[in-house]
Amino acid sequence: MRCRDETREKWRSDLESRIAQSSFGKARVSKVPCQIERRVAASHSLAGLFDQDDVIQRMFDSSVKAVNRERHENEELSNVYLVSEANEIDTDLYEVSTKVCELLDMGIVGIFGPQEKVTAEYVQSICDTMEIPHISVREDPSELSEPRGLSLNLYPHVSSLSRIYDQLVTEFKWKSFAILYENTDSLIRLHLLLKRWDPHGNSAFVYHLGSGPNYRRAMQEIKASEIENIIIDCSYDILSDVLTQAQQVGILSDKNQVIVTSLDLQTLDLKPYQYSGVNFTGLRLIDPEDLIVQRTLDKHKNEWGLDDPSKLRVEFALMYDAVQLFARAFKQLKDAIKGDVKKLPCDGSARWEHGLSLSNFMRLTETRGLSGFVKFDRDGLRSNIQLDVVRLTESGLVKIGVWNSTAGNKIDWIPETGTKKKNFDTDLSLQNKTFIILISLTHPYGMQKESSTILSGNDRYEGFGVDIIERISKILGFNYTLQVEAQTGSENPITGKWSGMLGKLMNDEADMAISDLTITSERESVVDFTNPFMNLGISILYQKPRKTPPSLFSFLSPFSSDVWIYLIGAYIIVSLLFFIIGRLCPAEWNNPYPCIEEAEELENQFTFKNAFWFAIGAIMQQGSEIAPIGISTRMMAGCWWFFCLIMVSSYTANLAAFLTVETVVSPFDNVEELAKKKGAIKYGAKRKGSTLFFFRDSDYPLYKEMYKYMTENEAEVLPEFNDVAINKVKMENYAFLMESSSIEYTVERECNVTQVGGLLDEKGYGIAMKKHSPYRHHFNTALLKLSESGIITELKKKWWQEKRGGGKCHENGGGGSADELGLDNVGGVFVVLSVGAVLSCVYTIFELLWDVARTSIRENVVFKEELINEVKFILKCSSSKPTRRRNGTSSKSENNSTRECTPPYGFIPTVITTSPTDDK
Ligand code: GLU
Repeated sequence: MRCRDETREKWRSDLESRIAQSSFGKARVSKVPCQIERRVAASHSLAGLFDQDDVIQRMFDSSVKAVNRERHENEELSNVYLVSEANEIDTDLYEVSTKVCELLDMGIVGIFGPQEKVTAEYVQSICDTMEIPHISVREDPSELSEPRGLSLNLYPHVSSLSRIYDQLVTEFKWKSFAILYENTDSLIRLHLLLKRWDPHGNSAFVYHLGSGPNYRRAMQEIKASEIENIIIDCSYDILSDVLTQAQQVGILSDKNQVIVTSLDLQTLDLKPYQYSGVNFTGLRLIDPEDLIVQRTLDKHKNEWGLDDPSKLRVEFALMYDAVQLFARAFKQLKDAIKGDVKKLPCDGSARWEHGLSLSNFMRLTETRGLSGFVKFDRDGLRSNIQLDVVRLTESGLVKIGVWNSTAGNKIDWIPETGTKKKNFDTDLSLQNKTFIILISLTHPYGMQKESSTILSGNDRYEGFGVDIIERISKILGFNYTLQVEAQTGSENPITGKWSGMLGKLMNDEADMAISDLTITSERESVVDFTNPFMNLGISILYQKPRKTPPSLFSFLSPFSSDVWIYLIGAYIIVSLLFFIIGRLCPAEWNNPYPCIEEAEELENQFTFKNAFWFAIGAIMQQGSEIAPIGISTRMMAGCWWFFCLIMVSSYTANLAAFLTVETVVSPFDNVEELAKKKGAIKYGAKRKGSTLFFFRDSDYPLYKEMYKYMTENEAEVLPEFNDVAINKVKMENYAFLMESSSIEYTVERECNVTQVGGLLDEKGYGIAMKKHSPYRHHFNTALLKLSESGIITELKKKWWQEKRGGGKCHENGGGGSADELGLDNVGGVFVVLSVGAVLSCVYTIFELLWDVARTSIRENVVFKEELINEVKFILKCSSSKPTRRRNGTSSKSENNSTRECTPPYGFIPTVITTSPTDDK
């Protein structure tokens, strides 16, 4: 760019000398010392220099206004407030420099325009020196090498345009053709065509249009040489005249094939040529059928005085897009750095230190505008340019093909009978297409990357959704630009309009959306979803149950109260049984003094007190001095000891668990219990999210009631973002109805919250795209591939458990809980005890009857009488028993019982009793 450097140097010396002379310059230089910084208010001035059409100025103004209007709704423009400083200028360079100096002195953030070549280059040089971004929207064929400095041109670069002209000629298989050109700029634009000449038949004939206004001479020469294929390249200003004269001369007849290079061809009235039979091909950058074009025009038609999108000229549209692009880049600059605008004195001594960054942000920003996808390559040239190839037919201009600058030199032709349906078919290949994909900054689906350097473009974002899109783009071969949109989107019940991501998809402001976007029937009616890439359901996020304060009676915890009651009952019953069986069992009646052979009385160790003491001794694992003698009492004791062994072991084991494991209390275990708390615990869901709408649309009365509660307390319980809700859960007595996948993510990182209860429903997240999108099938197939190869699971593991603090709560989270032992756990021991007790009783009764029978035979008394006597004695509850006399009466001195019960401790006392009758 030698020419630019020379211009800059020229400008610098020129300006310095002029400033030195002019009173304006003196005043400025003395009044504004070098590098004085002035902080301006939140608004930032954007200068526009306009030298031609006032429509372009109106475009500039309305685009600035649109930015200011949208800054509250559009995340990409938030906090950007621009003031337009539109200035009309003419071609006098001194006046231009004065104007620019004034603007720089005010403190501006960028200069747009002018359109005229010399003044534009002059302004560009000033801007390069002061490091103020300069944006132009004019075709500049002289700019063959890459543009440098801080200037950016939104007009497709001549190197791209020359490729499509060359490709058209190749596709039309023209061997020889004539180029009707206006000036050297035209030849630069068509330089690839000029190179086509070769000695073996390819011939290009070049005809200069002349200085006008009569261009017929060159045309007549073409006609005379009978060249049928013609390329017309001239400026928009004379295009209409040139075409009229070409028709007059007769080179727009049915024999001719004509290519017009102007991208503004469609704005001309082409009716006069519609029926001439000429094969007339042109190109257009602005698609009048594009929804963004139609909507923008709809919004501004009064300001622009234009209501037909096909009449929108390229430079005008580019000016609108340029301001939009600038505003987006400026927002990023503001986010990245703290600095502000500087007042720059016009002596060339100061520079705006952020100008270069701003210019770089512009190069890295991608957006969709009136001129299609606005994006720049590494050299700062516009990339991903999509041009429609149009053909003039009797019904006007018809799109016959599409050329994309990144898709190689290929034109996608639309079949002649092309209808809208056919159009879709040609669009089906995703290779090299560029999509705008919406993400929301909801962890972990989309997040701002943490980095010490300033990132730009797609690099700024990461997350589960971002990774999925990246993988799909590799499979399908498309390019994409991520855009942030905070809200998933819902329908405004009054206007019927959709907001957020879904609104943008419907308005064609974006192609796809990936986030925690739930597939619902309501949404499916306005957009298309891919198959779900993740399944989930609604559940509750709430504080982890707190530890119960240590209880004074925590030793009771190992057994449920039922078991304690049964245990006490068992103890009492068993003690009584010992007492009864002890009395019934003859073997338990023993001579208390073994050395006295003829004891007067027999004693029973199982007195009432002893029975209870024996039983408690066993429970306490201490034993007692009492030892059962009879088989039945031993049987009973064995059962009781077994019972005690199991019960005590269970108690000890469970007590240890209770003491080491925290016992927790949860105020509710499911959504029904939460609802029944009637607001004692506040609960809510994400505002305008599908979870809230689930409660709204449910037929279950309880859920409807919950929805009513939530909407009535909207301000308090319906947060806009998940992180606000999570904080609320942590700090307040608040339960958040959240989707299980997000709960899972949260509980990995927030150790004092947890999921309560199961899932209320089952649903999934999908990628949303415009209704009837031809890409849905491709995306479904790609998603299936990802899921079959385990990549989605892998990504889920990465974003849920590993990245951004995942797995933090695993160490502390492992604590289980100990449950008290219920009857189900220890019931068997009670059964064993009961069966043992019953058998002991039966056996005791058998023993008693046997003993009574033997005594009655021996003593020769009636069995019944003996039995009644025995029972009477038992019922007396006496602890000693007189020994039995031979004649059947009982006497303290006449006991001659020779019972065969085993005496205590294995000692068999010999008790000889002599009855008085024997003595006789
Ligand atoms: N996934 C929900 C949606 O698409 C947002 C979160 C929620 O409602 O819980 O709206």
